[in-house]
Amino acid sequence: KGTKQTPQIVILPAPGMGHLIPLVEFAKQFVHHHDFSIKFTITNDGSPTNAQKEVLDSLPKSIDTIFLSPVNLDDLSKDTNVETRIYLTISRSLSSLRDAFEVLTATAPIAALVVDLFGSDAFDVAKEFNVPSYSFLPSPALLLSLYLHLPKLDEMHSCEYRDLHEPVKLPGCVPLHGRDLMDPIQDRQSKVYTWTLYHSKRFRLADGILLNSFTDMEASAIKALKEGGDSNVPPIYPVGPLIQNGSRTGADVSGCLNWLNNQPIGSVLFVSFGSGGALSWEQLNELALGLEFSKQRFLWVVKTPNTTYLGTQASEEEDPLMFLPDGFLERTKGRGLVVRSWAPQIQVLSHASTGGFLTHCGWNSTLESVVHGVPLIAWPLFAEQKMNAVMMVEDLKVALKPKAEKNGIVRRLEIAKVVKCLMEGDEGKRARKRMRMLKDSAAKALSEEGSSRKSLSEVAHKWNSQEWL
Ligand code: UDP
Repeated sequence: KGTKQTPQIVILPAPGMGHLIPLVEFAKQFVHHHDFSIKFTITNDGSPTNAQKEVLDSLPKSIDTIFLSPVNLDDLSKDTNVETRIYLTISRSLSSLRDAFEVLTATAPIAALVVDLFGSDAFDVAKEFNVPSYSFLPSPALLLSLYLHLPKLDEMHSCEYRDLHEPVKLPGCVPLHGRDLMDPIQDRQSKVYTWTLYHSKRFRLADGILLNSFTDMEASAIKALKEGGDSNVPPIYPVGPLIQNGSRTGADVSGCLNWLNNQPIGSVLFVSFGSGGALSWEQLNELALGLEFSKQRFLWVVKTPNTTYLGTQASEEEDPLMFLPDGFLERTKGRGLVVRSWAPQIQVLSHASTGGFLTHCGWNSTLESVVHGVPLIAWPLFAEQKMNAVMMVEDLKVALKPKAEKNGIVRRLEIAKVVKCLMEGDEGKRARKRMRMLKDSAAKALSEEGSSRKSLSEVAHKWNSQEWL
């Protein structure tokens, strides 16, 4: 017999940069420590975007890309929501995924298929080739727990979850009010609810589930998943926090890093709502005035407002700064810096002048602030962000949360109060201290003997020791 061929791992990310990036980080970590070659199979409903190509082209040699044939979604109505589009893109890509498996198995054995939250339909293809299937969740154990328990919740309750009188208690997790559960399950009559329920059942078919979280951050939730006595739950591997290292971002186009260089240590509040989050015009105004009244330093990534408050982008041609209150920029000059649409977030969070982060609690932003030890003001908008916020505020106590009025608007005085409290108050001090401890445990989890590195090695060992390889 010849020498053993390097086994391949096939990764199928859901469409969209937000899904590609966490899997790319996972793949890079994985090949850095373990001897596999990785094949990304990319689904799309058109041709690959430049952003996708840029990320895929920058990968090390052991990571390759296969573009699956584009699928056609023309039959869907315009208002079909994004999750449903994602699920359909994947299910319509299965025959070309099968073709890719055919081609790949002819060159070297495939040790595993890895999909994300939306990809469990692809388990069937892996099964045809006797390849084990894994899910990688770019999310906390809290979200995995909700997915695994959704079929039970669905049976137990007939009303909308937001109308439940008691909080939902997932094993080992912070209790959640029904209205804070992820968006796709907020309307039980919707198509996306049906899809989510269907996929939540399929999670149990995985041979293992990798999580972008770590034991010290979610100790009891992870313990309950691993040892909760539910024999149907696949083995769980927390391998995080995996975040981008930020080296890809080039010049300081917006000038914000240069500006940060000239601010006192720990004095600046970074304000950003992720790649898709936008506020209503009214809320944008309140936020501006709140930041102004707080008298704190701030670096704010301003996006064009959307009036629907659902995070869908308004026309991007308009200059976002146009929507700020009259005279705001002049009055806060020197103390505040406003940049349009995008900032190099990792560099901002790792900058010594940054002392706080007002965030929408997207999971990547959350982990990035943990890794850099920056305490938070939690301002969740959509998807599963409200769940993340509850965990950061009530469970880990590394975040403060401003109170909204009944109509959902957070007023300027409340904003000013919370900003001041985070940057100067006692509660802020306590949150900062706890966030630093969490930062240390994150570093420990990723160190040589750390829990996440060990989980990753365990997975690699399992993949490598399959006798047919
Ligand atoms: N990001 C950035 N600059 C920005 C906004 C976002 O670099 O101005 C990055 C951020 O560092 C994170 C990702 O985009 O890695 C956003 O992911 P997250 O899960 O926090 O939120 P989403 O954009 O998916 O809502």
